[in-house]
Amino acid sequence: MFEQLKTLPQDPILGLMKAFREDPRTDKVDLGVGVYRDEAGQTPIMTAVQAAERRLLGTETTKAYIGPAGAEGFNQLIGQLMLGAGHSALSDGRATVVQTPGGCGALRMAAEFLKLCRPDTTVWISTPTWANHIPLLGGAGLTIREYPYLDRTTLSVDFDAMISCLEQADSGDVVLLHGCCHNPSGADLDADQWAAITDLIERKGLLPFIDMAYQGLGEGLEQDAQGVRLMAERLPEVIVASSCSKNFGLYRERTGALMLIAATPAQGKAAASQLLSAIRSHYSMPPSHGAAVVELILDSPELAHQWQTELGAMCDRILDLRAAFSKALAPAGDFSFIERQRGMFSFLGITPQQVQILREEFGIYMLDSSRINIAGLSAATLPCVSEAIREVSGR
Ligand code: PMP
Repeated sequence: MFEQLKTLPQDPILGLMKAFREDPRTDKVDLGVGVYRDEAGQTPIMTAVQAAERRLLGTETTKAYIGPAGAEGFNQLIGQLMLGAGHSALSDGRATVVQTPGGCGALRMAAEFLKLCRPDTTVWISTPTWANHIPLLGGAGLTIREYPYLDRTTLSVDFDAMISCLEQADSGDVVLLHGCCHNPSGADLDADQWAAITDLIERKGLLPFIDMAYQGLGEGLEQDAQGVRLMAERLPEVIVASSCSKNFGLYRERTGALMLIAATPAQGKAAASQLLSAIRSHYSMPPSHGAAVVELILDSPELAHQWQTELGAMCDRILDLRAAFSKALAPAGDFSFIERQRGMFSFLGITPQQVQILREEFGIYMLDSSRINIAGLSAATLPCVSEAIREVSGR
């Protein structure tokens, strides 16, 4: 059987990570990998997470199975984090939240659920989007279509192009949106644009599917959820995939959630039963640890405060770096979009050749598309990285 298989080419990000590891220069800078980094270049365990883990170790009494939906307490609290406590969809039985193995698990199970709703479902995704969206959703058998999202010259949202493309979508089509901190561009929809896209979705009978992988890392927990909350308020059906990888720093613990909001409680019940059956036939049930930690944090006023303070500091660090970086690059051209954008990622808008020069001559690593992780910068490295980019921009 196996003899027919061909070896696939290496994932470009993994190749970049390897090249960075093997680079002997001590002043090399990694702006490629998509994890949060602090001033010292570390991806630390948050102190609220460490405290919750210690508590968990002292109180956990069993490792028995938790069931396909995961932990009920986590699901309730994460639903409130997404929609705000007291949202009617959470109290009237229209919303179902299940714990998933990371945001990826949520995205894939949403796709499997959509297949059960309608086997020929089309999902519209932004160009560009996070590279794994296509394998996660297309791999489940959904038809993928793309809508233009980014104006490559200004590196801001090309909203007119987005809207006019989505006018071609058919009733029942699904539109994948990034809740905040668009990956890879950092260009987010503003409040008016969220309202306009909600109008379009309502008028055309489309289904919004929102990927919320960075809540709290754009402008703050509440602000970053504005699009999700608006849609949950106004539309009969909404799907949200959320991840605790970045905002709780739980990457390897594979912690995320999927929320389905249905038009009526009866439809919500049917949707939940279908989703749980799909989960059962894929991974049976999610891993427990990360969600148990999140539940302990969100359920304890003291730990929740500690977590929010830490997350707020991470968010502020990214905003400060954005402002300083955009200022430092100003002599080389208009990089003000970096300050306007949100979250960890932005495109520099330089050519693949310039990206290569930065890597080879200066030891500065980023994806060939020029997507950088802003959190990979620090007060110490920002001046030399900016100088190198200024120099390379002139070539
Ligand atoms: N969506 C987007 C846009 C992401 O960038 C990521 C992580 N890089 C995810 C979803 C999934 O994250 P995870 O499965 O690690 O929680």
